[in-house]
Amino acid sequence: MKHEPIAAARACPLCGAGADQAEPFLSDTRDESRVNQSSFASRKIPEYMSHAMVRCRVCDLAYVDRPPSVASLAASYHEADYDSAEEAEDAADAYAWPLRTVLDLLKGRDRALEIGTGTGAFLERLKSEGFTQLIGIEPSSAAIAAAPSHRLPWIREGIFEEANFPPESFDLICCFMTLEHVQDPGALVAAAHRLLKPGGVFVGVTHDRRAWLNRLLGHRSPIVDIEHMQLFSAASARELLRHHGYNAVDGTSFRNSYRPSYWLRLVPMPDSLKRTLTRWLRKSWLDRQRLSINVGNYMSWGFKPL
Ligand SMILES: [Zn+2]
Repeated sequence: MKHEPIAAARACPLCGAGADQAEPFLSDTRDESRVNQSSFASRKIPEYMSHAMVRCRVCDLAYVDRPPSVASLAASYHEADYDSAEEAEDAADAYAWPLRTVLDLLKGRDRALEIGTGTGAFLERLKSEGFTQLIGIEPSSAAIAAAPSHRLPWIREGIFEEANFPPESFDLICCFMTLEHVQDPGALVAAAHRLLKPGGVFVGVTHDRRAWLNRLLGHRSPIVDIEHMQLFSAASARELLRHHGYNAVDGTSFRNSYRPSYWLRLVPMPDSLKRTLTRWLRKSWLDRQRLSINVGNYMSWGFKPL
């Protein structure tokens, strides 16, 4: 798919600082001949391609200053492949652990919304935590097709639109590994704020580009990706919430647990060697284990004032 970027450089999507406050961060390494339906799939093998990005000197956000249009992004995710339903369950377990701290502070456990729900794996965890009404939004029809049938009544296909929900109607809104992918993360968290009941909480998971592993890997980090319209640090992820009126903003890093053959996907090495090693690992007893690693993922949250 061809992406038509917007014509003029945009302001920082976190703090609004103009292009004069931006410095170069990543160069444009896209190769249209290598962009396909798996480029927009969850947990794909990294392609190490990215749009050109700049860094905001004011708030430290790294962002694509000439992103594709919202319609073009929506089309890319709608058509994306999906082949990681098993890893989605592992990811949901990883998010459920740090989320317990947040839930302890939350009054109600009635309605929950997940923006970018995939197969609805995390909604299942929220059900176990006592939430009674679950809604997940997911643009990829392949992801929804991979969801177990009992979760389908919870999942709505499409992109998140505030107008589809009554204001002040949710206790919890979460958005995991999606804030980097949308064109305007500020608009998303502001809309979520309006949809939360007073005292309700927004919870996000983003990559922390300043985490040690991402700094170590540099341009070979899997976070350098054509899907990412912005890259947060832990501080800028919290700042996004403060900037849009959230209270008691906090966050934590956490570990992800996956099969060794999944982790291998993310290691920079020649693709042919990676495929050989993956085939070997998949057949071995090692791959029935789960390996927990802090790869620089960061959970941030903020409450709507009472
Ligand atoms: Zn900024």
